[in-house]
Amino acid sequence: MANTGVLNRGWVFRLETTPEQNIALLAQTDGRRGIWNMLHEWWQMSSSHHLPSMKDLDTVVRQGRKDIDWMAAVSAQAAQQVIRDYLGAWRTCWAGHGTVGPPRFRSRHRDRPSVDAPQARDLRITRISDKFSTITITKIGRVTFRRHRAIPSSARITGATMSYSQGHWWVALRMQLRRPTPLPTDRPAVGADRGITIPVALSDATFIGHADWLTPAEKRRMLLLERRCARQRHHRWNTRGKRTPLGANEFKTSAAITVLRERVARRRRDWQHNLSRYLASTYSGVAMEKLNVMGMSASASGTVAEPGTNVAQKRGLNRAIRAEAWSSLQQKTAYKVDEVGGIFATVRAAGTSTECHHCGSNAPGQRESQALFTCANPQCGWTGNADYNAALNIEHRAFGRATPSALTPGLELCPDVGLTAAARPGHTPGKPTRKGDVAEARRQVSRGCGNNTQAQNAHA
Ligand SMILES: [Zn+2]
Repeated sequence: MANTGVLNRGWVFRLETTPEQNIALLAQTDGRRGIWNMLHEWWQMSSSHHLPSMKDLDTVVRQGRKDIDWMAAVSAQAAQQVIRDYLGAWRTCWAGHGTVGPPRFRSRHRDRPSVDAPQARDLRITRISDKFSTITITKIGRVTFRRHRAIPSSARITGATMSYSQGHWWVALRMQLRRPTPLPTDRPAVGADRGITIPVALSDATFIGHADWLTPAEKRRMLLLERRCARQRHHRWNTRGKRTPLGANEFKTSAAITVLRERVARRRRDWQHNLSRYLASTYSGVAMEKLNVMGMSASASGTVAEPGTNVAQKRGLNRAIRAEAWSSLQQKTAYKVDEVGGIFATVRAAGTSTECHHCGSNAPGQRESQALFTCANPQCGWTGNADYNAALNIEHRAFGRATPSALTPGLELCPDVGLTAAARPGHTPGKPTRKGDVAEARRQVSRGCGNNTQAQNAHA
């Protein structure tokens, strides 16, 4: 990201819609989906020598909005935006050289309903109280939204997208914000190792964890709902056949499961935002490993670095969720570090967990267990937590050894730096989510022994 004076951000606010507005918004998002599908159908029927142009598509959509009711529900600008989005999806596909698939039909069930308001001047955002503002949506009128964070007066709003999820309508305001004053650059640099037992280990011996995303009661409910859903599905298969629409009760059950899944996603996002903000404001340089998403989704039998000890736990779904969580943590950290003038770096991942950060020895078997690393070089013999060692390797690869938080000779390492709360028997997780985790971590930024743990075995 270039160091321009402007940051492009999308801030999401919850709309407080009336039942009538819900229906109108749904008509708009359905209309948008319908236009998309219509364009896609036409495109697929066209010969590759005569693909419809922007102008062709525009003419058809214009005429359609005059003749067809459901198309007229979408505002002219939003309909235009669908065409731009559709052609943009093809361009992304062509530029992606096989990594990005072609656009496909949008499904009511699979795709999140959303509709665009590309013209900012029509939005007319007005403050009505300390907590609420209104926004004007074409063909609907003024809709109240909860202003959970202040919109700076210097922000330039360039557009909005309305979408539906988690039982609410949301508006994402696209805005250009003034870049904040850079933080001092003499703050330390840090390497962050993302892991399974310890979600994030930092090279200054801070371990940052989180409670389970669901409370025990929520987990029980999830299990119950999943069983119920399976039972209802099998009943439908047996009585009506496999490719039949969901029954009313099955639909209700799956909606309840979605609520819980989205709760997990929300808590994880909250944790990531807090953690990345903490990293960006505490360190002037942050390094992480390059993610190997292919490798993570490959085999459960393990790698050289981590021979498959927890094969049974490394199920595909969990792994995918983790991979997703890791890459979005990286994204959030990267842009937040950049915002305040710090440096974000990614480094080669190979060997970070097997090499000794102190002497560079990479003899086999140094990683004695998941938690413990013991250097096999007799002149060195460093021993300590394996994730801490990996975090130091990451830091050194990115910023060299001269940074303030690098291990300096003579610094006495606590012999049990490696003992995390997760490893201790009888550790009980705290309340899920909440800002406490990072606030706690902030308090614990120290090289002291025994009190540097917040980590707990979230996924095992
Ligand atoms: Zn060593």
